[in-house]
Amino acid sequence: MAKTAINRIMEKVDRNEDLTREDALELLNISNESADFYCLLEKANFLSRTEFKNRGYIFAQIGLNSAPCPGNCKFCSLARSNYTIEAEIEKTEPEILQEAQTAIGQGIDALFLMTTANYDNEKFLKISEKVKALLPEDVKFIANIGDFDDVIAGRLKAVGFTGVYHIVRLGEGTDTDLPVAQRIATLDAIKGAGLELIYCVEPIGPEHTYEQMADEMLRARHYGVDVMACMKRVGVPGTPLFDKGEITDLELTKIVAAARLVTRPKTSMNVHEPKAMALLAGVNQLYAEIGVNPRDCAVETSDNRGFSIANVREMLRQANYITK
Ligand code: SF4
Repeated sequence: MAKTAINRIMEKVDRNEDLTREDALELLNISNESADFYCLLEKANFLSRTEFKNRGYIFAQIGLNSAPCPGNCKFCSLARSNYTIEAEIEKTEPEILQEAQTAIGQGIDALFLMTTANYDNEKFLKISEKVKALLPEDVKFIANIGDFDDVIAGRLKAVGFTGVYHIVRLGEGTDTDLPVAQRIATLDAIKGAGLELIYCVEPIGPEHTYEQMADEMLRARHYGVDVMACMKRVGVPGTPLFDKGEITDLELTKIVAAARLVTRPKTSMNVHEPKAMALLAGVNQLYAEIGVNPRDCAVETSDNRGFSIANVREMLRQANYITK
């Protein structure tokens, strides 16, 4: 029997060969109702179970502020042009330290600090140094902030960050006020400072093409990303992209499986927001969220949209992923 394109791609994965853009498109174009869909999920699951040895990871993110953001992303509740959060807040240092301490006490693998794009760098670095002092050695410390240069990258490293979450978004420069070149310059600064880059294909909506998604998977591989993710856009009422709708969880599960095979991260694969079905497709890491998040209108997402650390630990446990 003649080999199908999917068979050939799976053999390349087995030989640890890098998949091409065409291979990525072949995977993304698989019908969600086909046998090939399950072949893709099975391979992504197999890789994560064997390469990650069934280890599940819990990352927690604290949103430090909510204020109109000049990034102006058309999907975001914090964007200056369509600010839809119920209030403007800025957490105090004691509040942040308390939240960090509580998260650490629940056994997390990474702590992210997130701000809007115009949060003051000096203030962020000062608070971060104090948070770092609370962190056990084995907990990654990740910044999720606006664009920055080599100097700030070096200072992030100096205060103890191990990595940075930064991406070129789908529709960057069109659906955001942030130029793609500026985003790429920050990615280069992160790598130049020796910080780990945490990447994600996001925020995926029905209007995005598979070509756009494949390009971000390949960008992640180009930067040697070992903690990879895919996130679908959550429609926030009042934001310009709300009317475009959302992709299904099934579609997101296929995309995350394809990203797992194309990017080949060495540590973990994430889906956001947490979706149990994606745990059948190679996902072994989930995020809990505290404070503000761009997909929510509440200032405290853990009381609303956000998943708690206990929630995501239980989801991973149900899928036989072992957490610490
Ligand atoms: S996604 Fe980030 S950069 Fe864009 S508007 Fe929201 S907070 Fe600002």
